[in-house]
Amino acid sequence: MKIVETVREVREQVRAWHQEGLSVGLVPTMGYLHEGHKSLIDRAVAENDRVVVSVFVNPMQFGPTEDLESYPRDLERDGALCQKAGASLIFHPQPEEMYPEDFSSYIDMNTLTGGLCGKSRPIHFRGVCTVVAKLFHIAEPDRAYFGQKDAQQLAVIRHMVNDLSFGIEIVGCPIVREEDGLAKSSRNTYLSQDERKAALILSHALKKGRESVENGEKSAKALVELIRKEIQAEPLARIDYVEVVDWNTLEPVEEIQKPILVAIAAYIGKTRLIDNFIYE
Ligand code: AMP
Repeated sequence: MKIVETVREVREQVRAWHQEGLSVGLVPTMGYLHEGHKSLIDRAVAENDRVVVSVFVNPMQFGPTEDLESYPRDLERDGALCQKAGASLIFHPQPEEMYPEDFSSYIDMNTLTGGLCGKSRPIHFRGVCTVVAKLFHIAEPDRAYFGQKDAQQLAVIRHMVNDLSFGIEIVGCPIVREEDGLAKSSRNTYLSQDERKAALILSHALKKGRESVENGEKSAKALVELIRKEIQAEPLARIDYVEVVDWNTLEPVEEIQKPILVAIAAYIGKTRLIDNFIYE
C-alpha cells in the first residue's frame, strides 16, 4: 500500500489500474480512523479490485469557530489500519494541494443543505460537496462509500452525483456503534469520562424513538417531543436539533410515512455529536 500526497500520483495510479481493467473504490475520510471507517473500507475492498482511502481534514467544511485545528490526526495509525484492511492507496494531500492560492470554484446546492446540520453549519455542505467532487475527479472511482452516520451528507452526495451526472455508484453503509450504543466518531476522543457516559443519551433517545415508531406512532411532532424529553433529562447534553424528515428530500414531515430520517445533533459539553436512524 502506498501513501501519496499529490493529485498527479493518484491519477497516474488509478488510470493504470483502469487500463488493466481493474475497478476502483474510494473511501473519503478525515482520518483518525476507527471501526466505522473500517466498515466502509472493508466493503470497498470486497466490492472493488483496488481501494483508495483519502485522509484529508478539509478546511473548507469547517466554520470559523469550529474544531479544524484540534481535529485529531494520526496518519501512522491510519496507514496501518488501511493496510490491514486491504486498501491499495492512501491519498493524504496538504491543503495547498487541494486548494491552491487562486482557488475560486465551488459546488453548492439549493435543496437538502439548508436544514438539519446546515442550519448551524451554513458553509459546511458547500465544503463537503466541493471536496468530494474534487476527490471524484482525482480518483475516478467506480464506487464511493459513505456512512449513514452522516446521513445528511450521504443524501447530499447522492443528490450531487445525480445532478451533475458523475457516473459513480454511491454506497451507503450502516452506522457502527460502540458496544454500549454510542455511534463511533473521531470526535468521541474529545469527551471526558463523564461526558462519554452522558453521550449515551443520544443513542438511548433514538432507540426509544424507534420503538415508538415501530409501535405505531404516526406523529412526527410527538416523536420529536419524546426524543427531546429523553435528551433533556441529561444535564450535560444541549440539543442543537431533533428532526424528522423525508429520507429522500430531507424536508420536514408531519406524518410518519416511510422512509423517514430521524436525526439529532447535540452538544455534550463542548463536543457536538450527531446520530440518527432511518425508518424504511
Ligand atoms: P469522517 O472521517 O468523519 O469524515 O468520516 C468519513 C466517512 O466515514 C463518512 O462517510 C462517515 O459517514 C463514515 N463514518 C464515520 N463514522 C462512522 C460510523 N460510526 N459508522 C459508519 N460510518 C461512519
